[in-house]
Amino acid sequence: MNADRSTSKPTPVIAIHGGAGTITRAAMDADKEAQYIAALEQALRAGQRLLADGASAVDAVTEAVRLLEDCPLFNAGKGAVLTNAGTYELDAAVMDGATRDAGAVACVKRLRNPVLAARAVMERSEHVLFAADGAEAFAQAQGLPLVEADYYYTPERHAQWQRARAGSGMALLDHDAAALAARADADEAGGEPLDPGTKFGTVGAVALDAQGRLAAATSTGGITNKQLGRVGDTPVIGAGCYADELVAVSTTGTGEMFIRAVAAYDISARMRYAGSSLEAATHAVVMQSLPAIQGRGGLVAIDAAGNVALPFNTEGMYRGHARVGEPVHVAIYR
Ligand code: ASP
Repeated sequence: MNADRSTSKPTPVIAIHGGAGTITRAAMDADKEAQYIAALEQALRAGQRLLADGASAVDAVTEAVRLLEDCPLFNAGKGAVLTNAGTYELDAAVMDGATRDAGAVACVKRLRNPVLAARAVMERSEHVLFAADGAEAFAQAQGLPLVEADYYYTPERHAQWQRARAGSGMALLDHDAAALAARADADEAGGEPLDPGTKFGTVGAVALDAQGRLAAATSTGGITNKQLGRVGDTPVIGAGCYADELVAVSTTGTGEMFIRAVAAYDISARMRYAGSSLEAATHAVVMQSLPAIQGRGGLVAIDAAGNVALPFNTEGMYRGHARVGEPVHVAIYR
């Protein structure tokens, strides 16, 4: 999606994702699909409104991700997936491209909105990444609300976790096509457009504001049935979240591969050192570098000219973008 280059200042724009994955027959459930679309539109409109009012890109991505964390449909905040111990461990990051300030939290179990904690780390600490108890203590000291573990609970995620345990018991999701088809046939997807067993439901946002500043934020519950203490790409700056003066990127997918590919930063590096366009850089990472190491998923990215890229190598990705003064665009499937 190319930006309008006729004006000197690019129009502020926000793009979001709510995870990528495999489309199932249950995609026929129009009601659930409408809920996903409404939730994506709500987050986009909130970001779009902030940008229209002159808010910073950091404010816009934080608010969009906060709303997606509060929505039980997505695997972040309320609705997060469970670990192999039946607990919740959440990760989040935020990065301000104008200053390259960044903040992240990993393995937090009691924060209602991990993205707000990540932002507090960025703005109110001298560090970049806090983990576990220390992250919660820091967030609490900053006045952020703590919740009991059952706040994150949804019956859908619990059933998904039980299926994962009854199946291979593996942390990483099973992408075997036959298993997938069998699952879809059994209609175990519970009416979600993307099969919850093979969906990476992380949420994220990237934005360009009226001052030309870029920012990115990403938040997740991780991967169903993951081992205790496992940290994915989401809070790793440069892997699941990155922003500088050229580009802002937020990813979703098999976190281990996104870390190994340094996926988000690689897009900036390709643009900076090889002169790649946003389109070419994102395509190379999502369609070549990641698949070369069995990395599945996608990302949202915006460059300094306001171009938007939303590539994914799975069958679908919850995604959308909105420029100030223009209609909101939302999509799920290819
Ligand atoms: N990337 C996330 C992780 O590995 C999962 C996701 O995107 O849903 O933790």
